[in-house]
Amino acid sequence: MGKGYLFHCDNCHYTFEANLGIGFLFLAVYKNTIKEIQKGKYGIKIKDFLLDYKDAAISCEQVLFQCENCNSLDSGLDLSMYLPDLKYEKKLTNIYDYHLDFELKSKYKLYSKYPHLCKKCGSTMTIYNEDELEELISQNKFQCPVCNKELEVSLSLMWD
Ligand SMILES: [Zn+2]
Ligand SMILES: [Zn+2]
Repeated sequence: MGKGYLFHCDNCHYTFEANLGIGFLFLAVYKNTIKEIQKGKYGIKIKDFLLDYKDAAISCEQVLFQCENCNSLDSGLDLSMYLPDLKYEKKLTNIYDYHLDFELKSKYKLYSKYPHLCKKCGSTMTIYNEDELEELISQNKFQCPVCNKELEVSLSLMWD
């Protein structure tokens, strides 16, 4: 089950809500995402990656994005590209079989991160997963994209 985070600015009343992690429908989300990548929805590089590597895996965790330039927040699928770590015995898998993030982090190697770009200014966005976000929240590291004051972050709900 995923977690919902609510970002709120006391100064200008900017709010942003993000659902992070994975939900109960993860299996279907994974399969659909692979199909969309194959259709070219996410660009040529990640599409070719799936064509070139039959044992490829994609991170389909919901993550937070923050623009390195204007601090804009967004959320969506991580889409980092992974290949099996050869240290581990290879199981025969179907490209549509889902992979959870802890499996990717332990038994796979990061091939490339997906380049998420800011919808506002086109700059690179930094990807934060749930754990990284918790760490940053405890340090009060989020600035309001509108007025640059510190954002308050609270847990808003559990989603599925
Ligand atoms: Zn931006
Ligand atoms: Zn603000």
